[in-house]
Amino acid sequence: MGGAALMPMTAILHGSCHCGRLRIAFDTGVALADFAPRACDCAFCRKHGAAYISDPAGRLTVIADEGALKRYRQGSHTADFLICGECGVLVAVTFEDDGRRFGAVNAGCLDEASVFAAAVNASPQSLTAEQKVLRWRQLWIPDVVFEFSPR
Ligand SMILES: [Zn+2]
Repeated sequence: MGGAALMPMTAILHGSCHCGRLRIAFDTGVALADFAPRACDCAFCRKHGAAYISDPAGRLTVIADEGALKRYRQGSHTADFLICGECGVLVAVTFEDDGRRFGAVNAGCLDEASVFAAAVNASPQSLTAEQKVLRWRQLWIPDVVFEFSPR
């Protein structure tokens, strides 16, 4: 225990879409109350009521039942929105840059959603595609892995 106390506290936050065919595990050292979900003001995210959290030192695993994961592109077509093909819930957003996959989690899909700080507004649509990529590289989870499980 003595050695472990010197390490930053990390936790794995779990979540899913409504039907459970898309699941997420978000490994982070950020305290839950320090997350202020970013409510994106683009038309797509507004329709979903999406607000995102991420951790530039975190790790995200997306576990999808075979055939459940749908990717949707909109706006500048830079990012992939991950949606359950069965229940339609948006669980996360990712983008790839230099062979690396970054991501942010739709906070409302996490079991811990009720303890996050109040959402803040974000307006990535006001940025150019290049500015978005720069921002996301700084802000988003830099390590996103997909796992596919048979039904
Ligand atoms: Zn679902």
